[in-house]
Amino acid sequence: MDNVRKRKTLDPCSRCFLHKERCICSQIPRLDLKTKLSLIIHHRELKRTTNTGRLAVEALVNSEMHIRGKENEALDLSPILSNEYETYVLYPADDAVDLENLKPFKPVQLIVSDGNWRQAGKLHRRQSELKDIPRIKISQKNLSTENLRREHFMEGFSTLEAIAIAIGHFEGEAVKGQLMALYQAKLQATLAGRGLKPSIS
Ligand SMILES: [Zn+2]
Repeated sequence: MDNVRKRKTLDPCSRCFLHKERCICSQIPRLDLKTKLSLIIHHRELKRTTNTGRLAVEALVNSEMHIRGKENEALDLSPILSNEYETYVLYPADDAVDLENLKPFKPVQLIVSDGNWRQAGKLHRRQSELKDIPRIKISQKNLSTENLRREHFMEGFSTLEAIAIAIGHFEGEAVKGQLMALYQAKLQATLAGRGLKPSIS
């Protein structure tokens, strides 16, 4: 007897979180860049199969993941604020600099708080060591109607897409394209898993 399809992904791949039959790990690029990604992620977000920020960490050699929200374990980000990088937080505050206008002198470290808007907005208050770190935003809007989840990271984009746009600004269109392709692979495989449409890959 066939099992009834369930929404919850059973036994997902530990790297891409997709059902092992739809694993996209072979499509994760290995990008060794000057630009560094530091992803701040809540421990509960780590368990969400629709999370895309972690895929960026998997693809980018020069990246770190910092887990927050664990009981009795305060996260101190001051060690990552070195002079080696010009550091920016990707967050659309009113005083955030438009990414398009940014011309850095040094390699850039991009700090991204994964999750939804509400969580990302609290980052400066939660992590006082970041209060003087300038914020940057992307101004383009996502017009696509296909999404992994309802709550978006920025301007309708998922975390991975926003990272692709920001890192693409510093590293070029080819890098942006590879990260966007990874997001599309994740999206299409996830939709296929939900039985919504066939995989295009
Ligand atoms: Zn996988």
